[in-house]
Amino acid sequence: MPEPPNFFDLLAQAQRHLEEGFSSLPPAPSAPLGEDAAAILRDVATRLHDNYPYGHPLYAGQMLKPPHPIARAAYALAMSINPNNHALDGGRASSAMEVEAVAALARMVHWPQHLGHLSSGGTFANLEALWVAGQLVPGKGIAASDQAHYTHSRISSVLGLPFVSVPTRNDGRMDLDALEHLLRTKEIATVVVTLGTTATGAVDPLDQIVSLQSQYSFRIHVDAAYGGYFTLASNLSLQARAAFDAIPHADSIVVDPHKHGLQPYGCGCVLFRDPAVGRLYKHDSPYTYFSSPELHLGEISLECSRAGASAVALWATQQLLPCVPGGAFARGLESGRTAALQLYHRLGESPFFLTPIAAPQLDIVVWAVNAPTAEQSSILAQRIFDEAAQRNLHLALAKLPARLFPQTSQKSTLQFQPGQTITCLRSVLMKPEHLLWLDHLWSILEAATRAVFEASMTQ
Ligand SMILES: *Cc1c(COP(=O)(O)O)cnc(C)c1O
Repeated sequence: MPEPPNFFDLLAQAQRHLEEGFSSLPPAPSAPLGEDAAAILRDVATRLHDNYPYGHPLYAGQMLKPPHPIARAAYALAMSINPNNHALDGGRASSAMEVEAVAALARMVHWPQHLGHLSSGGTFANLEALWVAGQLVPGKGIAASDQAHYTHSRISSVLGLPFVSVPTRNDGRMDLDALEHLLRTKEIATVVVTLGTTATGAVDPLDQIVSLQSQYSFRIHVDAAYGGYFTLASNLSLQARAAFDAIPHADSIVVDPHKHGLQPYGCGCVLFRDPAVGRLYKHDSPYTYFSSPELHLGEISLECSRAGASAVALWATQQLLPCVPGGAFARGLESGRTAALQLYHRLGESPFFLTPIAAPQLDIVVWAVNAPTAEQSSILAQRIFDEAAQRNLHLALAKLPARLFPQTSQKSTLQFQPGQTITCLRSVLMKPEHLLWLDHLWSILEAATRAVFEASMTQ
């Protein structure tokens, strides 16, 4: 992907400045890269051609958002030190930057106090939150919706905790009656509430789940790995807004800066509302913790070595684009959501497509092809996906319950059995530029769809 023209100049300047800080050392140059390295790097570039163009606005498929150039530059700069945020011995500056970057995320969700740190990703961050939950109430169950990230059931099995899946309603949000029924059994210690499901971006009704705590005793873990930053957006539905506004009542939350926070991979974050859970991590390491009596991040983390460069990149990005409502970063999220709503309306008006009962709650749009059976609809979706890719528009496919689509709409020819799934088309409009590109994207989708329908008629 093209870089802004001054990217490498700015990086080189900053690199020289970094090296000045170590200029009192005798020179110890590392071996230069030779001709063979140049050839290898060319080979690497050739190998990397085998990718979708993730950074381009016509890539509108999976959850892939290019890191901001400042994150990439700060990461590269930190790599010349290669700090390890496990312990202060391995990365003093980057540990301090991690503490500040994590505090900014806690402020974003309006937590007056917190304990938290970065992690290699959302899965490990969720593992840690559920591990803490299991330490506090051993042996009791974890409940999450049937649209929650698939790793929750696997994490529960790793932790030896029973996992229960809670049905969702036809808008993809957790069914409260089903949850309450489950809570009555007193077998559930922790409810995982997803704010932004991975498949459709559905926002569970956290505010109403919090209300259930007046009758039942359970912990709330919010999985906002994908959706967390949307708390900054001013154009959420009232339902979604109410859910995000209830985050201060949760016990723990996961937000992935490498999903929507413009970071390179290797950057998740877990926050606990009660800093006292830090005592659960108590351990003795004979190797680390000699240089300073201050808290080392490794003392409050299950992971050991972690890239300090991730913290440096996140810190730098937050300086340029603070996590505040009304700021440039928040406007980028709002723009993706507007694009999703516009795409949803265009799809709704097209005779070729069926849109779900619920409008997009974040910036993810799913739609099915209008066909008499779920099987035919799924085959056509796959063909449109391929045909669009031929024309440089990259979408995604998702297998979803057919019940998400209304059978009563006038144009729908679809008949399905209870419990059937359909392969749908899916688009995650994560890039702020997607809104500007929507007409272009739509014209390719229309052309690809027409080509597929014409081909299927002549068969
Ligand atoms: C992506 C995602 C995860 C997993 O996070 P990774 O960073 O991929 O490990 C967990 N939960 C939700 C809701 C997600 O969207």
